[in-house]
Amino acid sequence: MRLFRLLGVPLLVGCALLARAAEPPDAMPSLERFNPDQVDKTLDPCSDFFQYACGKWLKANPIPADQASTGTSTKLFIWNTSAVRNTLEDAANATQRTPVEQQAGDYYAACMDEATINKRGIEPLKPELDRIDGLRNKAQLPEVIASIHQVIRPADLNFIDAAYQGVLFGLYAQPDFDNARVVLAAIDQSGMGLPGREFYLNDDAKSKDIREKYLKHIAKLLELSGEPATRAAADAQVVLSMETSLAKAAMDIVVRRDPKNQNNKMPLAQVQALTPSFNWSRYFAAMHAPSSPQYLVLAPDFFRGMEKLIASESIEHWRAYLRYSTLTFSASFMSQPFLEENFDFFGRQLSGSKQLQPRWRRCSQNADADLGEAVGQAYVARYFPPENKQRMVEMVKAIEASLHQDIDSATWMSPQTKKLAHVKLSAQVDKIAYPDHWRDYSSVVIKRDDYLGNMQRAASFEINRRLAKFGKPADRYEWGMTPPTVNAYEDSQSNTINFPAGFLQPPFFDGKAIDAVNYGAIGAVIGHEITHGFDDQGRKFDDGGNLRDWWNAADAASYDERDKCIQEEYTQDVPEAGVKQNGKLSAGEDTADNGGVNLTLAALQSTLKSQGKDLEDVIDGGLTELQTFFVSYANAWCGELRPEAARTAVMTQGHSLNRYRVNNVLANMPEFAHAFGCHTGQPMVHANQCRVW
Ligand SMILES: [Zn+2]
Repeated sequence: MRLFRLLGVPLLVGCALLARAAEPPDAMPSLERFNPDQVDKTLDPCSDFFQYACGKWLKANPIPADQASTGTSTKLFIWNTSAVRNTLEDAANATQRTPVEQQAGDYYAACMDEATINKRGIEPLKPELDRIDGLRNKAQLPEVIASIHQVIRPADLNFIDAAYQGVLFGLYAQPDFDNARVVLAAIDQSGMGLPGREFYLNDDAKSKDIREKYLKHIAKLLELSGEPATRAAADAQVVLSMETSLAKAAMDIVVRRDPKNQNNKMPLAQVQALTPSFNWSRYFAAMHAPSSPQYLVLAPDFFRGMEKLIASESIEHWRAYLRYSTLTFSASFMSQPFLEENFDFFGRQLSGSKQLQPRWRRCSQNADADLGEAVGQAYVARYFPPENKQRMVEMVKAIEASLHQDIDSATWMSPQTKKLAHVKLSAQVDKIAYPDHWRDYSSVVIKRDDYLGNMQRAASFEINRRLAKFGKPADRYEWGMTPPTVNAYEDSQSNTINFPAGFLQPPFFDGKAIDAVNYGAIGAVIGHEITHGFDDQGRKFDDGGNLRDWWNAADAASYDERDKCIQEEYTQDVPEAGVKQNGKLSAGEDTADNGGVNLTLAALQSTLKSQGKDLEDVIDGGLTELQTFFVSYANAWCGELRPEAARTAVMTQGHSLNRYRVNNVLANMPEFAHAFGCHTGQPMVHANQCRVW
């Protein structure tokens, strides 16, 4: 369960950038640091604190033309991208290189070599397209789909996302819900090019408009691949119709949030019975996958729908669907017409970006995505001061102590449930900055003149690395994010919280800043991830990561009542996105946001006390420690999305938009009202202040 995805980034990485040979390399941007003068003193903090704390920042930082969003996190993301670029350029140009430097450097050089990429055109994808063209009957689908799955970068499991991003269905290695020590093969709904099933099924004008543009995009991409225009237009209708059938069969995004609904374990024979027309044994054999003790079918109805689709659609239709799907996942690694078309739909139409990012940024981001722990080693060595790790460890411990205290003082939990909550919290593993053991990519062949091939071989390495885990013990110490990532996550099945080094930079973590600033920014993130283990999804997992109900019925009912307050509070119109937010979808993230700030504030208070200080002390800039804490929290979330991207985020992700992440949380806190002298009746003091943790 991720803290947040930088929306726009996934879309932009899938899209790509137009390079100009003469483009000057950008210098490292400066990092944002906490500045108490950033607040707009002409505004009333009790009316709209986000505007009070972020209005000046937003004015000074409009959304760049090549981005779908602006934000302090976006700026750090670009800083990290620049840092990664520096290490990659050194590796690309060095004469004496280690094997890791050869891979990272040649990956980057191949990506930057736009002339070769353009000259090769569609040729690098020919083998895959020929294989699809050779599909003569539906019995051959398992082998053809396996060959596609071997050359598409695999997505990550993410409970709050609408679906796995992949061709037809997703395949991952996931711990058994009932015994988290063992990894199983898991198959999931997928195969939809639009961001979520609602995009296919909703009937409003905007949804229809997006589908019309999508149809044109599919046709254009097929045409670029060599289909005559009339056939491409007909095939586009087929693709959209098949994806719509998959969307109808897919699990609803809110239903999907309950892990119990995903826990459908079966022997292979039972999976086979779901889809008689698709031979799973042959698919797994073609993937060279070891057998799994059981198979986890995350969305059984989806596979029933897939069976119907195989039965009803002709082989010509399947060729069209697979051709487009393969093209869409490969386009941003191909020549200019493909990447521009891909950007035009996913970047321009769907997320509102105006132009492609500079090529070096995309190359740095893709090197991170494909060879993350190789690229990450150099990033950490050069840009992550080791002393930051120690201070983070101390903060995490202090915030965990806050939750232990909060559990003890909860009036709505019985002693037995409290005891088990303490056990779970104590068993949580804190992973900070980067892995103890780096992944070995030595078997991945990286060539200096084969960009698409490099991505395909890295994808194949990654999917096979995952499949090799079937039936094996789960590794709690493995990372699901690369070191330069600006993000963090909690994983309930491994009972871990994870903070990549890329996030531990200003303004989130600043080695030079006072505690109030760091507890307000990264402290709230730490508290957020810790709280995830005890939100409406996380609380269903025990200390060992098993999906097991350890709550007594009365305590669970009390939890649900508190959760309902949050759900209702966040079910609200979001004018900037033109849609209504569903509090049932965002409940886990909202609970984590609220809990995170409460826990980190308690930790700051005890830290200050141990230093002989107090939250009421006035410090630099004329703010009290407490006011500084709240301004720092808001500053960490200064940012906004383009309307197109905001709409997608509200519809498909569990995270509320930044403005609500700040204002709703603070309006729930008496400490905030006290800090800024706000009183009942003002917008920043909710009449019904929700509180879970
Ligand atoms: Zn989260």
